Amino acid sequence: MIRINDIIDKVTAYSAEADLDLIGRAYIFSARAHAGQVRLSGEPYLSHPLEVAGILADMKLDAISIASGLLHDVVEDTQFTEDDVHDMFGKEVALIVAGVTRLGTVPLKGAKARQAENIRKMFLAMADDIRVILIKLADRLHNMRTLKYHKAQKTQQKIARETMDIFAPMAARLGIYWIKSELENRSFYYLQPDTYIEIEALVNKEKQAREEYIESVQALITQKMAEKGLSCEVQGRFKNYYSIYRKMVTQALDFEDVYDIIAFRIILDTDSKCYEALGHIHSLWKPIDGKIKDYIARPKPNMYQSLHTTVIGPVKDRMEIQIRTHEMDQVANSGIAAHWRYKEGGKSDKELDHTYAWIRDLVASQESIQDPDEYLENVRIDLFPEAIYVFTPRGDIMELPRGATPIDFAYKIHTDVGHQCVGAKVNGRMIPLRTELKTGQHVEVVTNKQSTPSKDWLEFVKTSKARSRIRNWVKTQEKERSINLGREMCEKAFRKQKLNFNTLSKKKEMDAVVADFGFKKLDDLLANIGYGKTTPLQIIRKIVPKNAVVTDGITEMAPSKDASSKKKGDGITVQGMDDMLIRFGNCCQPVPGDPVIGYISRGQGVTVHHAECKNVARLDHERYIDVEWDSSSEAAYPVDIFVESLDRVGLLADMAGVISKSGANIISANTATNKKKEVSTTLTVMINDHNHLIRLLADLREVRNVRSVRKLK
Ligand code: MN
Repeated sequence: MIRINDIIDKVTAYSAEADLDLIGRAYIFSARAHAGQVRLSGEPYLSHPLEVAGILADMKLDAISIASGLLHDVVEDTQFTEDDVHDMFGKEVALIVAGVTRLGTVPLKGAKARQAENIRKMFLAMADDIRVILIKLADRLHNMRTLKYHKAQKTQQKIARETMDIFAPMAARLGIYWIKSELENRSFYYLQPDTYIEIEALVNKEKQAREEYIESVQALITQKMAEKGLSCEVQGRFKNYYSIYRKMVTQALDFEDVYDIIAFRIILDTDSKCYEALGHIHSLWKPIDGKIKDYIARPKPNMYQSLHTTVIGPVKDRMEIQIRTHEMDQVANSGIAAHWRYKEGGKSDKELDHTYAWIRDLVASQESIQDPDEYLENVRIDLFPEAIYVFTPRGDIMELPRGATPIDFAYKIHTDVGHQCVGAKVNGRMIPLRTELKTGQHVEVVTNKQSTPSKDWLEFVKTSKARSRIRNWVKTQEKERSINLGREMCEKAFRKQKLNFNTLSKKKEMDAVVADFGFKKLDDLLANIGYGKTTPLQIIRKIVPKNAVVTDGITEMAPSKDASSKKKGDGITVQGMDDMLIRFGNCCQPVPGDPVIGYISRGQGVTVHHAECKNVARLDHERYIDVEWDSSSEAAYPVDIFVESLDRVGLLADMAGVISKSGANIISANTATNKKKEVSTTLTVMINDHNHLIRLLADLREVRNVRSVRKLK
């Protein structure tokens, strides 16, 4: 088991001014918090955070990362809280530990390829600080190293599968290849133990011969470079079993045919020496066409730089050789982690911004990658995604654009779920439908079979699917309503002519009429009537001889030219319909500002009632239609006002004066006086809107001798 002193030694080796006190305090706190807890291996639990911190030190990370690594399981597994960590170690450590804890709640179930990609993206999106991911990787690495202590093979395989699908690719994308490689190899052991053992045996079979071969090649290269005046370090190693296996699978090779199971690396001082060395290697051994890659001139998006070549080696074997500088070698090992090296204490926001700018560039630079395979491999590193990731009730992860709402979520599940959406819960609590969703939330939609979409949703939905489905629905509804309205107008108009529209509509003559008006189906013609563009009388005239048509002025339901010019002043818009015939309920006399509801009345267009009108409540709810006051209209509306007062000279004149001062016109006034000199006055006044009415009623109450004033209906 690694000791805290080993970790401190590692850290001081790469950073002289590291905050060792912070690391020491984190160690003591973690030891106290985990006291008494034991790992499956039988070791004290503390061994785990220590090993994780050790891995982070191997990545040469800063003291904040090391301390956070020591504390990473404290909030999840002990009595201590985020606040405790904050009080003891400050904001930065607390945020990182909270981030690691939060990632622990992401279910990794059924990591199928597509879902795995989403989980990886979600991890990156959820981590505000990339060090959260680095700790998570170190945590997973140690758990893989100790996976053998899990007794159940099923559990081992499940964890190995997650590691292979989620964590290894994540390490690769962040450019931390040594972790990627170790995670893959260890997962491979649990996922395909037979194959692993087979390859291991094959590699070991001629191990001695191979090791001698490595040594001789190393010597040859060193000698050649020395001749040319280049000092370098030459490394030779067996590729890991998993990459050998991948090569066998992807290139359909037998083990005997996988020649380059050994890889060499030449490390030099400068870029130009790398190119020079490449030339010398090619003069020594023949390169294989198409196998030379220059990642120095064109780095991988995760900053990886190196020259790669494959040559026919001294015993006619293929050998892969990588050539790079010391600096490139460090980046290749630590990737993104390189940015938290040597950066101790007081990191200013500007510096942090700079780091993030670098990561952003890294993401942006993917655009310029030439090799399409390379592009696919790396395109998915997206640390600042335009997407968010939320959980469905089944635990699946759904990707949505930033700013998406529960409505977008609902439509993405299914069009019907969207149409019937009446509410939404986030993490179990109801939220307004226009709320923006955030990564990591568990979202649930509440539906009602009777419910229908609202046009208002169009104001805030973000996905084109939701938008088009809602639009479609609204359009269909408008058409249906227009058809119904048109049908009712026809029925009434035909009745006036002693004709039965429904019977006639099934006859051949009607088909001809429909075609005559340029429509394919009767419904289209009816919709046109509903929209007020055609009149029922026009149809009747086509069906019966002209002189037989009764024209009593009622049959002509659709607006005449006069009526439509007057309609501009209706001050009402009917949901989704232009040119609708509008009347106002005489029973309730609504004025602008009053809540209103429309009612499709038989053959009379739409009647607008006060929403609280007693009459409308008795009507058929199926025929309700949403209407709104048109705020741009300057129309005035008749309202009956009832005034009770005690008679006096000049009373009526005073009331008329108040009314005209308020800018209203009096249409009619009826007055009755009883024996007690009590006066009842009914005034019909043209009112602009609700506030106008309220003011006028108040002003009338101020008139001397007036006892009560109210709107009559
Ligand atoms: Mn852990």
